[in-house]
Amino acid sequence: MLRKIFVTNALPYANGDIHLGHLVGYIQADIWVRFQRMRGNTVHYVCADDTHGTPVMLRAEKEGLTPEALIARVHGEHLRDFTGFGIAFDHYYTTHSEETRRYAEDIYAKLRAKGLIEERAIEQFYDPAKEMFLPDRFIKGECPKCGAADQYGDNCESCGAAYAPTELKNPRSAISGAIPVPRESEHYFFRLSDKRAAAFLREWTGGEARPGVRRLPPEAANKMREWLGEEGENKLSDWDISRDAPYFGFEIPGAPGKYFYVWLDAPVGYLASFRHLADTRGNIQVEDYIDAGKAAAAGTEMLHFIGKDILYFHALFWPAMLEFAGYRTPSQLCVNGFLTVNGMKMSKSRGTFITARSWLDQKLDPETLRYYFAGKSNGSMEDVDLNLDDLIARVNADLVGKFVNIASRCAGFIGKRFDGRLGEIDPAATEAFTAAWAADEIAAAFEAREYSRALREIMRLADLANQYINDHKPWELARQPGKDAELLRVCSTALTLFRDLARYLKPVLPALAAQVEAFLAIAPLDWHGPWQALPAGHRIEPYRHLAARIERAQIDALLEANRGSLAPASAAAPATADIADDAATAAAAAAPTISIDDFAKVDLRVARIVEARHVEGAGKLLRLLLDIGEEKPRQVFAGIKSAYNPETLAGRLTVMVANLAPRKMKFGLSEGMVLAASDPDGKNGGIHLLSPDSGAMPGMKIK
Ligand SMILES: [Zn+2]
Repeated sequence: MLRKIFVTNALPYANGDIHLGHLVGYIQADIWVRFQRMRGNTVHYVCADDTHGTPVMLRAEKEGLTPEALIARVHGEHLRDFTGFGIAFDHYYTTHSEETRRYAEDIYAKLRAKGLIEERAIEQFYDPAKEMFLPDRFIKGECPKCGAADQYGDNCESCGAAYAPTELKNPRSAISGAIPVPRESEHYFFRLSDKRAAAFLREWTGGEARPGVRRLPPEAANKMREWLGEEGENKLSDWDISRDAPYFGFEIPGAPGKYFYVWLDAPVGYLASFRHLADTRGNIQVEDYIDAGKAAAAGTEMLHFIGKDILYFHALFWPAMLEFAGYRTPSQLCVNGFLTVNGMKMSKSRGTFITARSWLDQKLDPETLRYYFAGKSNGSMEDVDLNLDDLIARVNADLVGKFVNIASRCAGFIGKRFDGRLGEIDPAATEAFTAAWAADEIAAAFEAREYSRALREIMRLADLANQYINDHKPWELARQPGKDAELLRVCSTALTLFRDLARYLKPVLPALAAQVEAFLAIAPLDWHGPWQALPAGHRIEPYRHLAARIERAQIDALLEANRGSLAPASAAAPATADIADDAATAAAAAAPTISIDDFAKVDLRVARIVEARHVEGAGKLLRLLLDIGEEKPRQVFAGIKSAYNPETLAGRLTVMVANLAPRKMKFGLSEGMVLAASDPDGKNGGIHLLSPDSGAMPGMKIK
């Protein structure tokens, strides 16, 4: 039976950029959603910005904006970044919406009617200068445990101790610098300590999302048992759901000056975003997904993809709040771990606090990150490590070397020799694929969010396809007379296998799959119905290159662009030009001094000019191929045309910057820069390429 599923992703806070750490969970959810749709299931996939709270209010104030203007801008940035990585929400909304207000008020009123809301006076730090209560993160002082200075009000970054802000020594308001004073205020609480809540949560935790599928990952279920305690024990405490004015959010009905705190409006944004989508589309029965009674009757599901940092809240507070307000409770929580880069916490000084935007700005293919994260996703709450060398190796070896290679080795013959038309295929060769066509193994892995297992199986099939090509050697058949029929059969078979691999990879690599669909001239690939070969006589489009290798220099440039202390926000594009032309016109004034470490960052190499050519349409540039001892020469566009005849350059040695970020130019990719001397005004004969003394060899390092 086909499933009807409402899927959400955690709501990012509207006060900062999307970074690769965020993307782990969004990419996992998007892959799952795409897989379900290929299977024919109905999925509604929504998200929103979490917009309310003191940090947004204060940041807007600092930027001289209204909170509404700030969250509108951030919304645009977040949506652009998600879209850039192929994360295709049906709707990306904001919690600052009338729908959120309506659902929050409705849930609050129902909880109140059930006796689950309570008012209580609490003591909190108050900033007398700013005239507001201070959130923990806006109070700084000395750690009560180790004495470290300048620590936040909730925990110490030096010794890791957790404490209440009132325990800090010499506390100060981080906003005004004033000494905060304790002050009493009425707050509203959701009575999670009520025995009805614990009883419900015990049952909910043990439940199944579907037959045989646990509602919570095992690590999370263990945590829940710890939080809930033994039967009869009452370990849950009430949750503070209000904040005092001034606050950016929704006022609590009947409580002037009191606002719903995050718990009672952020996750409500899931429902609000879905409601807005349904109202826009007009053909979705929202109640079938979110009303407790109707959802049970309709057999719909509700899945939340979240990071493990918000598990406590999504597994305790949120289901209880929905249950006692008459809403359906989550079918399943899909929980991901944190991201580390090269085995360490993301760090601004190492350049590994990588924003989504910088990845896209560096022209790195976003699908390579999807592929890598999928290869690291095993359905558990374990942290995911992005090892940048491993990323390069996996993309180049698997994606380009195994998958794309199948098409690039066979498509040309079909185009050139057979007018683009396929022939009969070889049934013996497709057996392994058709046997696996139900692809139960791969489908089960996608279903369980064990994408790493799915990719291993897909790459095993890719190996079989490549083995088939190696065994039959189409490039040799093409040279032998009378082997046309065999050549056609081998290439047609290989392209059918390629089509199947593209289908399996499509949830992970939707843009690449779309290119394959266009190249093979086939309908969008889905994942149900009987297996069919590409029919004989079917005409495909000319093959164009499908995916590029990742070069080390691109990753180095990415890290450089994210190195907070060294690079300003706009440093995504290399500021130094990679053509000698710009060097030739640079000012002659001596540059400021740099340290030896700064100089050591520049990788200078002896290079042999293998080839030099004019570039059509370029007035100043020559295209050089430079050998620096690598597998394949580098292409560099150099502004030296006015001084050199290309014929005289081939074979000579010069000096190149080997680790300059590659730059995409109108004429192609420039992968470095050659060094030349010149006067700023072009006197003394213009441009002079540097040369090493005789005996130097290509690839030698210059220091
Ligand atoms: Zn401390």
